[in-house]
Amino acid sequence: MRRPKEYFPIHKCKWCGTNVDPNKWCAERAIALVERTACFTCTFWLEKVEVKDDKRSVRVNGTHYFIGPENAGEVGRGFGGSKFRIAFHDGRRVESTNLWCQGNIPELWREQLPDNAQWDTLKELAEVEL
Ligand SMILES: [Zn+2]
Repeated sequence: MRRPKEYFPIHKCKWCGTNVDPNKWCAERAIALVERTACFTCTFWLEKVEVKDDKRSVRVNGTHYFIGPENAGEVGRGFGGSKFRIAFHDGRRVESTNLWCQGNIPELWREQLPDNAQWDTLKELAEVEL
């Protein structure tokens, strides 16, 4: 017997005020929106806030990135496998050939997702001088 689809009441996003009909999304996403009382976009950024202290979370000049595993296959690497050198504000320096961009962080989320890194151009300059 097929289980009837769960119905989620319409709610107002507590972050941006948009009316949200969670039923427009698959069940998994609908539950994520209901749990956060948020719209799709605010849920997307809330999920980034929830992992903002993860060592793979990169924020440079108001844009959000996430470092994927280096052992990922050739297909499906962020930026087509381009190499990025990241200088985190906490002193870590990381090279990645699997960096993924999630887009510019909207003004509403900038305070909770402040920059935590910059592109490591000093190392590149040092290599040029060699
Ligand atoms: Zn919203």
